[in-house]
This record gives sequence, C-alpha cells and structure tokens, in this order.
Amino acid sequence: MTKFEALGLQKSLLDAVSDMGFETPSEVQEKAIPILLSGEVDLVALAQTGTGKTAAFGFPLIQKIDSNSRTTQGLILSPTRELCLQITNEVQLYAKYEKNINVVAIYGGASITDQARQIKRGAQIVVATPGRMKDMIGRGLVDISKIDYCILDEADEMLNMGFYEDIKDILSNTPKEKSTWLFSATMPAEVSVIAKKFMHSPQEITVGTKNSGATTVQHEYYVVGGRDRYPALKRLADAHPDIFSVVFCRTKRDTQKVAENLIEDGYNAGALHGDLSQNQRDLVMNAFRKKQIQLLVATDVAARGIDVDDITHVINYQLPDEIETYTHRSGRTGRAGKSGISMVIVTRSEMRKIQAIEKKVQQKFINKNIPTGPEICEIQLYHLVNKIKDTKINKDVENYLPAINDVLQGIDRDQLIKKIVSVEFTRFSNYYNKTKDLNSGDSRDRGERGEKGDRRRDREDSSASSSNGSVRYFINVGEKDGYDWMSLKDFIRDTAALGREDIFKVDVKDSFSFFNSEAEVTDQILTTFTEFKVDGRFVNVEVSNSPGGGGGSRRSGGGGGGKDKGRRRDKDRGGKYSKGFSKSSSKDSGKKRSKRRSDFF
Ligand code: AMP
Repeated sequence: MTKFEALGLQKSLLDAVSDMGFETPSEVQEKAIPILLSGEVDLVALAQTGTGKTAAFGFPLIQKIDSNSRTTQGLILSPTRELCLQITNEVQLYAKYEKNINVVAIYGGASITDQARQIKRGAQIVVATPGRMKDMIGRGLVDISKIDYCILDEADEMLNMGFYEDIKDILSNTPKEKSTWLFSATMPAEVSVIAKKFMHSPQEITVGTKNSGATTVQHEYYVVGGRDRYPALKRLADAHPDIFSVVFCRTKRDTQKVAENLIEDGYNAGALHGDLSQNQRDLVMNAFRKKQIQLLVATDVAARGIDVDDITHVINYQLPDEIETYTHRSGRTGRAGKSGISMVIVTRSEMRKIQAIEKKVQQKFINKNIPTGPEICEIQLYHLVNKIKDTKINKDVENYLPAINDVLQGIDRDQLIKKIVSVEFTRFSNYYNKTKDLNSGDSRDRGERGEKGDRRRDREDSSASSSNGSVRYFINVGEKDGYDWMSLKDFIRDTAALGREDIFKVDVKDSFSFFNSEAEVTDQILTTFTEFKVDGRFVNVEVSNSPGGGGGSRRSGGGGGGKDKGRRRDKDRGGKYSKGFSKSSSKDSGKKRSKRRSDFF
C-alpha cells in the first residue's frame, strides 16, 4: 500500500496523484486527509503556502462530492485571482479521472456573464474570490444555499485584504449544517473570530510551528544609508546573476518608480500594483512565470497569492508596517520543499524592527554586507566563465571560422581567454570600479542588539565588517548541481567533518558558490577538497580573493579604466551579463536618466 493509499483516497484520485508525480504525502496532507475523509468535520489547519495544502483539501473534497448531482456542493474561497486560478487548475488535475466533475473559477476582472454561464452548466465545485462571489450572489447568478463543504483558503490573507465583511455575507448564504475547512498560514485574532463564529468545534492541525515563517527561508538584513536603498538593491541583484525575485515596496508609487528605474538600468524587471489594469497585471505575471522578468517589484496587496514555486529571493526594499506582512512576504520563497532567502534592506534607525520580526518568525536574521564592487565583479566573472563553458556551440559558427581564425591569428590561448572575458567583464569592472561601500551598520550597533552567545552571529558580524579570522572560499558547485544554501552547507560540513556552526555565509550561484569558515579550519577544508570527486567529477575548493564582505580595492578592474565613465551608465549596470537583458528599457529611458545618475554613488 502506498502512503497515499493509506490516507484513504480512492483509486481515481490515486491515479491522479501518480500522474502528478507526488510520491509521498506532505505533512499537511498526511494530517488533514484522514480527518476530512473520516466524517463530516470542521477543520482549522495552520499551514504555510507551498506545503501542499491545496491537495490536502482538494482530494477529500472531490472524494466526498456527488458527481451525479449538478448542484454546487463545494465552495473554495481564496484571496486573489491568481490563487483562485491556481486552485481551480490543481483541483481539475486531481479530478481528471472523475467523470462529470466541474470545477469553475469565479474572480474579478473577467466577464461575469461567461462565469455565470459556466456555473449554470452545473459546477459541483466553485473556486472564488470573495468580492466577485458576493457580487454574483447579489445578482442571483450563483446558488450556494445547498453546499456541503466550504473551504476558506489563506484565511489570514483574505482578512488582511479586508474581506471580513464579504466572507461574513457569503457564509450567511450557506446552510448551517455544512463542513467548514479553514486553512491559514498564521492565526491572528481575526481568524480565530471567524473560526469561533462560523465553525463547530473544529479539529485543529498545525504544520510546522504556529505563527512562524517557513524554516526553509534564511532571513538576512543589510544596513545601508537611506539614500543607498536603490544602489543596494542593484548590487544584491548583481551579486545573484540568476536571481528570480519579488521585491516588495511599501507604496504603489515606490513600486512603480523602483521598477521603472530597474528597467531603465537594464534589469529584467516589472511592476505589480493596484493602479495597473487587470490586463497589465496579467501580462506582468505571465512574464514573471516565464522568468522573462527576474525582479518583480510589487506592493503587498498585489503580490498576495502569487503562487510561483521557485522564487529564489524575496527582497524587502522597505520593511512593511505590519510584522505579519513580513511573514507573507517571506513565505513567497522557500516553497514546495525548496529553500529561499528573504533579504531586508534597512537603515540603522529601522533595525529595531528586525528584532521584532525575529521574535515573530522565531528565526535569527543574519547580518550581511552589501557586496562591494570587486566582489560583484568576481561573482560576475565566474558566472560569465561558466556560461561560456556551458554554452552550446552553434553549428553555423563553423562557416565563419576561417575568417575568424584570420582575425585572431597570433593570439595565444591565454591571451584569447583574457580578451573574451574582458569583453563583458570590463563593463562591469568600469561600473563598479571606485564605487563606495554602501554598508552603514557598524559592529557596535549590532553588538548592542544583545546577540551575545550567538557564535555564528558574532562571526558573521566580524567577518562582515573586517574579514578578520574568517576565510571566504570558492567552490565549483552550485544550483545546477542541485545545491541550495542549506544542502551545500550540510555537504561541506559533513564532507570536511566540521561542526554545526563552522560553515556560514553560504552564497549559492548557478554553477559555483562561496562560503566562509573560521581560519582555523581552512587547512581541514582545503585538504578534504584536494582531489575530491563526487560522481567522478572534481569538486574544488579554493580560498576566494574576495573576503565576503568588507571593502578593499584589491581589484582595480579589467582594463578600460575610467575613460568611459560618462557613457557607462547609459547602458551599464552590474549584471549586464547575467541573463538576457531587457530591451524594454527603451521607452522611457531618456526621461529620467540624468536625474537618476546622482542617485548611484
Ligand atoms: P500548495 O501548498 O497547495 O500551494 O502546493 C505547493 C506545490 O506543491 C504545488 O505545486 C503542488 O502541486 C505541489 N505538491 C503538493 N503536494 C505534493 C506532494 N505530496 N508531493 C510533491 N509535490 C506536491
């Protein structure tokens, strides 16, 4: 018997499980499915997004409804259109071997007549956003007076978005004797109120810790001067060439401005906020899903329900007013069993907030330094070299080889490598050459935070500010080899037989990574990784030139000097040789360039 069979799911659903490639039930599925199948119960499930909760309620719901009746029997309320569509999609996939089950999505911003027509054809399951649902009930376009199951998904987010009254209204149109299943990442007072008011002695399950952020997320903060937020954001992006991120701003205006600036500076960025039309928002979301956008700059409200699984970083360009909101933001990464990083750009005066959030998410933040220009150049250089190594040779190039050989005649291999690399590297190097250190926190400030006894933190701080005692390494494996910061840390630690806290500042890039250790274990690490092979491939570790924080003008750049200083920012930024750069900067790029120049340094 498979683990899914043991939960009590019927054959048609087990077939769908296997088609979806689910091998073992997630924790929430293991806990919720048997309870929901056991009888008619109310359930409160505390589970983050990305834990597999859609399947936890979706499978039991399908198993319980009567497909021979066309009456609407199940209603799923979700906070956003994106989530609504996502749930509908998933539930349709779960029900693929069930005949005659119709799942219909109703949400704002699309034709209400079309949705009403679909409902009329008979929808046993309706997935809806509260606003549109209320609207349709008001117009008599949907009948939920006979439902047996009502699911409130992401209840905390719905309430955050001000849907309390709508939910109350909707529930008053449903029969008393139904089962209500409430899923929420957190349990603020408002959610408890709903549970008390509309549910009958619900059973409770908790996945992970109550009210805490997902533990697969590493939280980091970067202290900068108030005027350095934007250049700091660019450096964070440049130091992570394969970043796929949501950047949170506090207001619609800031969101639009930051996105425009990024686009103009050549990044693959887009804005998502409430002043955009539904159509514009759809376009941005589609581009983001396809990873044509690497940096999605968003307001909290607009970003709710973004259900993209492989977001590598959440960047808090500004901290939210409500601590609760931080949990929602950081929960956008580290989903579906992957790890993620939530970065916060703060000024010194905001550092108290970090402590408050640490308490809330019950996780320590790591203080990190905004990478310096030379560090970014080094990262980008390795990224470029790896890209060259991995590039598939285009057959058509052959035709031009004789002519190319003529041109390059007399240049030896070393020279040629240097030249090829310099084509891109010089741009970066010119851009970052002589840029200032953006970090404004000093170790005294951090010491005052009472972190005594946190060995790792002390080390992070000292290495970040002075690099004393801490050694930075380069290792030739990265995301491509299946590592994230957690698994790489484990791998290095286990291989070199080190202690729990010995490896820190692990930065995983696409095909290589960096990490730090104390100087006293350097020999142990280097000896372990001498001639060390995994699956027949050498895994090399070298001491990196870059100390992993702290300034230094070790590198003055790969030639070119400052002669094109005035020109460089027209196109350049760091990151110019990360993934393809957006051509979309063209439209309004002229407008603001002169103003923005002064913001950079
Ligand atoms: P959710 O929390 O419902 O948004 O689910 C997050 C993602 O995990 C979705 O893409 C699901 O398809 C996927 N998923 C759900 N359950 C499982 C499972 N048991 N094994 C693997 N993936 C799953």
